[in-house]
Order: sequence, then structure tokens, then C-alpha cells
Amino acid sequence: MPDSIPGIHHITAIATDAQQNVDFYAGVLGLRLVKRTVNFDDPGTYHLYFGDGKGDPGTILTFFPWSHVQHGRRGTGQATAISFAVPLESFGFWIERLTRHSVEYDKPQRRFDEPVLAFRDWDGLALELVGVPNAESRPAWETQGISGKEAIRGFHSVTLCEDGMESTAALLTDTMGATKVAEDGSYFRFSFGEGNNASNVDLHCTPEFLSGVVAGGSVHHVAWRVPNDAAQVEWQTKVREAGLNVTPVLDRQYFKSIYFREPGGVLFEIATDPPGFARDEAENALGQPLKLPPWLEKYRTEIEGELPKLHQPNFTAERQS
Ligand code: ZN
Repeated sequence: MPDSIPGIHHITAIATDAQQNVDFYAGVLGLRLVKRTVNFDDPGTYHLYFGDGKGDPGTILTFFPWSHVQHGRRGTGQATAISFAVPLESFGFWIERLTRHSVEYDKPQRRFDEPVLAFRDWDGLALELVGVPNAESRPAWETQGISGKEAIRGFHSVTLCEDGMESTAALLTDTMGATKVAEDGSYFRFSFGEGNNASNVDLHCTPEFLSGVVAGGSVHHVAWRVPNDAAQVEWQTKVREAGLNVTPVLDRQYFKSIYFREPGGVLFEIATDPPGFARDEAENALGQPLKLPPWLEKYRTEIEGELPKLHQPNFTAERQS
């Protein structure tokens, strides 16, 4: 039985407009669109996956763009910030780039003795860049205007906003194998393993906040990684033994998934590393055509008719706001 979850697999959030989503994450932030598919539970909606060059676990941010969705409310029982690792010296570059693309950001601050640049995407989703000394050891996806000296290196951490954090902390440490490593004001950091490569969880204890509403511009769920199907089944048992309701294994085509709600209210998933995004298209052509799982292929014409057309971001265009 594995002692510890290795870290974050992916994070899924809700967007309002699919093209704007591609423009922001592929265009402004320079992530690679590694898969263009649909929400398997709602095939009239895209499911867009952004990540590093291969869409490695620990780098994947995914979206359901729902064009008519209301905006959510940030609050307890929610993942309230998604943090990416970047090279320490890149903040000047990112401030200039965010400014040029009309992205709202806060004055850089320090948390857990690391520099943090907080900003929002165009739907209000809270994001952060965290400068870390070893960022360059992770692969960079270089795009026009973003070199390896600046490129995002996958996730650094995720922040969960909790009313009271004891039961969530106990799940992280006693069941999932994390260690509490630091405190900074109302933030408590837990790490899996060495805390490198997408394996930090920050609990932000905010009893004065209202409970969050998950809708446009908010996180839908956080997925943790496991190396294979057998490990996933072991974790399913372990989560069930911790008294939580966990779903059967679902085939998400690029990984297999189980879901459960942590005691504070955030939806968690445990996803397998294999088979990954190269299972149905070549690695050098990821994210181009719409990919459908075999059971939806017969509805391709109807599905394509319903989805808005998408094009690659126009990197040189300034966004008008
Ligand atoms: Zn997921």
C-alpha cells in the first residue's frame, strides 16, 4: 500500500467562453492546449486541457467552458487559488505581460517565504505565480514571446479555503500521507513527499468567509495522481475506510478517475498517470482536432454542430476590455 499520494494530477475549473479560455491560457500564459475534447458527462460542452508539452501530471489545468453560467463566489469549501511554479527571476517579465493583456494582478507579496504574484483570469479565477529556485528543473513549453527563462513549470500548489481545517488536515495527513510543513498567518502548508513538483496543499483557514459557490471562474475539483490502476483501487479502499463516499472507477480516456468530497466540501479526484494524452494523437500534434471517446464518436456531427468553433490564440492581438 502506498504511504503517500505523489501530488496534484490536474485541476479542473469552470470558464464562460471557450475561445477566451484558449486565448488566456495558451495565449497569455503560454500553456500548451494538449487536448480538445468534450465533457463526457455533458458532451455539448468542451473539455479543454492545458499543460506542459506532454500534458504531464502536475501541470494540467482543465476547463469546462459553459457559455451561460453565472459567476461563482469565492469562499469556504472551495479551492480558491491555483499556483504555478515559475523561475525566480521571471516576475518582471510576467508583470509586463499581464499588464499588456489587461490582466488584473496584485502587488507581489511573500508567503511561506516565497514570492507570489496573484492575478485573475478573465472570468475572475484566482491564479498565482510562485517563484521557486528549482523551477528550471521541470520542462518548459516555450511559445512565441515566452522563453524557457520565464515559462510556467506546472503547478506549485493549490489553496483550499476552509471554515475549520482540522478534518481536512487529518484527511491530508492520516489518509493521504501529507506532512504539515509550515504556517504563515491563516495559511497552513501540507506537502506530499519533498513538496517538489506540484505537491503542496495550502489550507487557508477563513471561518469568517461565506461558503463558496462553484460556477464560472471557480475551481470544480482537484485531482491527485496515482501511478497505476492497482494503486487507484487501493486508494479507493483507503478513502472508503476513512468514512468518505467514493465513486466507482470511471474511464476518462486519458486517465481513470474516482471522486470523493473532502470533509471541508472540496471535490477531490484520484486520477491515474497512464495512459496520458498521447493515447489518441501524436505528441507533436496534441490539442488540434476535437477528440471524442469511442462511445461518443457516433454523435460527432451533432456534437461538432453544437460546439463553438475554436482557433489558436492570436498572440499579437491586445485584448480590448
Ligand atoms: Zn478531473
